Amino acid sequence: MELKCDALMLRATDYKDNDKILTLFAAGKGKLTAVCRGVRKAAAKLKFAAQPFCFAEYVLAGRAGRYTVISASLHDGFYPLREDIGKFYAASAVLEVCNLLLPEGMESDGLLLSAVRTLEGICDGDESATLIAFLLSALEAAGYTLRTDGCLRCGKPLSGRGFFSFDLGGFFCADCPQEGCEPAGEATFRTLRAAKRGEPLPSGDGKKRALRLLREYFARKTGCRADSLSEYIRLI
Ligand SMILES: [Zn+2]
Repeated sequence: MELKCDALMLRATDYKDNDKILTLFAAGKGKLTAVCRGVRKAAAKLKFAAQPFCFAEYVLAGRAGRYTVISASLHDGFYPLREDIGKFYAASAVLEVCNLLLPEGMESDGLLLSAVRTLEGICDGDESATLIAFLLSALEAAGYTLRTDGCLRCGKPLSGRGFFSFDLGGFFCADCPQEGCEPAGEATFRTLRAAKRGEPLPSGDGKKRALRLLREYFARKTGCRADSLSEYIRLI
């Protein structure tokens, strides 16, 4: 049976002498694995289809969930990501988060569209701001909404020092301390609130702090570590 689908290449691992096993995030299908044969040979025509960030129409042959790539036609390879190490790791974090959040075979076209738009945004603009907005929406789609309107108890915006509850996914101001919360400041709060509202992010170190908080929140909710995200945070 043949399957034709738009898909984003999330991950490739070497297989046998010349093949790769691809993890594809496919429209209408979700995450699936497919063998790409002969793709490690120097002159392989489908080399591009086994590269991270490749967004293409893949034609797959398969039965019982085992697929082989027959052909692919490129929509976008996001080449600027290969020329800037910061953009590269920010974009790698997008692929990694999709891979970790999605169970095999569960379709999530909203997340796919968001991931592709995020890769475009990382190519063209501020990768930190784009990545923060993506992480917030991906976490929300997975049922781990992070609440950024104000203190979870009194509703006031954070000013100065405050707290974050990893259990509840939100902030508490300094006047409303809660058990089991961890310190979190105004810069983190204001950055996440602006990202969620689609506003320009405040300058300063808020972006790095917000990314650290998102990394920890992601790890606690999913039990998975996003290594590319850590690498990106180390770089900025
Ligand atoms: Zn409060």
